[in-house]
Amino acid sequence: VLEIQHLKKQYGNDAVLKDISLDIHQGEVVVIVGPSGCGKSTLLRCINGLEPIQAGDILLDGKVITDGKTQWSQIRQKIGMVFQNYDLFPHMTVIDNVLLGPTKVQGRTKQEAAADAKKLLERVGLLDKTNSYPRQLSGGQKQRAAIVRALMMEPEMMLFDEITAALDPEMVREVLDVVLELAKGGMTMIIVTHEMQFARAIADRIVFIDSGEIVETGNPEEFFTQPKTERARKFLNIFN
Ligand code: ATP
Ligand code: MG
Repeated sequence: VLEIQHLKKQYGNDAVLKDISLDIHQGEVVVIVGPSGCGKSTLLRCINGLEPIQAGDILLDGKVITDGKTQWSQIRQKIGMVFQNYDLFPHMTVIDNVLLGPTKVQGRTKQEAAADAKKLLERVGLLDKTNSYPRQLSGGQKQRAAIVRALMMEPEMMLFDEITAALDPEMVREVLDVVLELAKGGMTMIIVTHEMQFARAIADRIVFIDSGEIVETGNPEEFFTQPKTERARKFLNIFN
């Protein structure tokens, strides 16, 4: 689905991503882990065209999307993203937040899209919050609404950037369960998380990044029990 080839990203003279190459296959769940500041969020932002890159290519379904000609608004319909800080519009109800993309971007009618929205809201346990405003929701409920909003575009893949980092512990589970359900449904995903148990449970492949480089990749069992590199061992020790 997605190919990243020799991606380089700099802020001024600071090389934040040095030479990242990574292929994501259909239905695969790739979890990116690494120390704070290593470039995880930057990588996701590059994939979604939120950051210009200095070298390398990103391909979606075999087509280069980093050639400067790409309509990022179209790519963002195919690659859904959810961030750490739920970015729902505060003045709109849950249902209106969720219907914004389908009606404004895809030109669907409200009535028709609403049927899909309700199905998804039900799946994540938010049907009773359909007409609530974001301020009336808990953090976990807001994140589940943000996931539904992204799913409404019927994306080919999803990017998740530490979507539970701002949540109280008791709300983490309900959000991670939604992501687990998506994985079971075969959604292709790149997940950035500091929840190591979750990473181990959900990942088909772990990618460990340090200082803007992929240091190690492997299946989760291997990575968490027998990391190949000293840097990965050091990183994992923090979590033991
Ligand atoms: P965390 O786990 O804390 O979220 P991260 O791995 O997501 O960290 P990034 O946010 O990708 O890290 O940041 C990578 C590096 O790029 C950091 O050194 C950061 O200071 C730098 N950086 C990020 N955004 C900018 C920016 N807009 N301008 C300049 N430097 C930036
Ligand atoms: Mg980050």
